Amino acid sequence: MCMFLIITKKRLYKVVIFVICLLIIGIFAKYNKDSKINSTPAGYVALVIDDLGYHGNGTDELFKLNIPITAAVMPFSPLTKRDAEAAHKAGIEVIMHVPMEPVVGKKEWLGPRGITCDLSDEEIKLRIKEGLEEINYAVGMNNHMGSKATQDKRVMEDILAIAKEKDLFFLDSKTNPNSIVEDVAEKLDVSYFERDIFLDNIKDQKSIEKQLEKLKVVALEKGYAIGIGHVGAEGGTITINGIKNMVPVLEREGIEFINISKLKKLIENDNR
Ligand SMILES: [Zn+2]
Repeated sequence: MCMFLIITKKRLYKVVIFVICLLIIGIFAKYNKDSKINSTPAGYVALVIDDLGYHGNGTDELFKLNIPITAAVMPFSPLTKRDAEAAHKAGIEVIMHVPMEPVVGKKEWLGPRGITCDLSDEEIKLRIKEGLEEINYAVGMNNHMGSKATQDKRVMEDILAIAKEKDLFFLDSKTNPNSIVEDVAEKLDVSYFERDIFLDNIKDQKSIEKQLEKLKVVALEKGYAIGIGHVGAEGGTITINGIKNMVPVLEREGIEFINISKLKKLIENDNR
């Protein structure tokens, strides 16, 4: 009996030592991982997910993504406030996804109270202001469609005047290569960004993952890159799954995911 106890005790010591070793290795590995994340990344990627406000396909999955990301919420939908609040609660940055007139397309694609080029200055400003009241967490805006409106100096001046007044940035989704938003933003001193890559023009997970790879290449070249994907019919769960798959892969290659506000701060600090 006594002999048995001694052997068990010896074994117990071995087990304790083994567990301590595992703990030390674990702590070391975590420290190494943390220090990797905190070191200067090879490039920054900011992802923006458009078309919230209708709680479309992929919205719940987006809220569970555990990376800094920006959600663009459309105004004046019965679910606008619900989606904006849920995104905010999930720690996701919120911007207003302004429905703006396209060159080609149906007016109903804009949803209610879209910005069309025939509106008066007062009406454009009113719609932007009331949209922002609904999406009160918004720190910026970007355009839904808008290939016609982003070429219209008067319309863009009205929208960006509100951005200036409320200290919001504007992200040009670049639905038209001839957009004049950058010039107007510069004139009105509004923080301006533009989309580098759309993730889900082809709604296929492999293709979405390829677009994320391309985004990485741009980020490595330029220092940062902005990608836009969608919930709802234009993308949905397939887009979110593509992102989920690629985040760890790109992080291992030195990419840090950030939201647009963080990017804004980094650029401002760089220019100082
Ligand atoms: Zn959109």
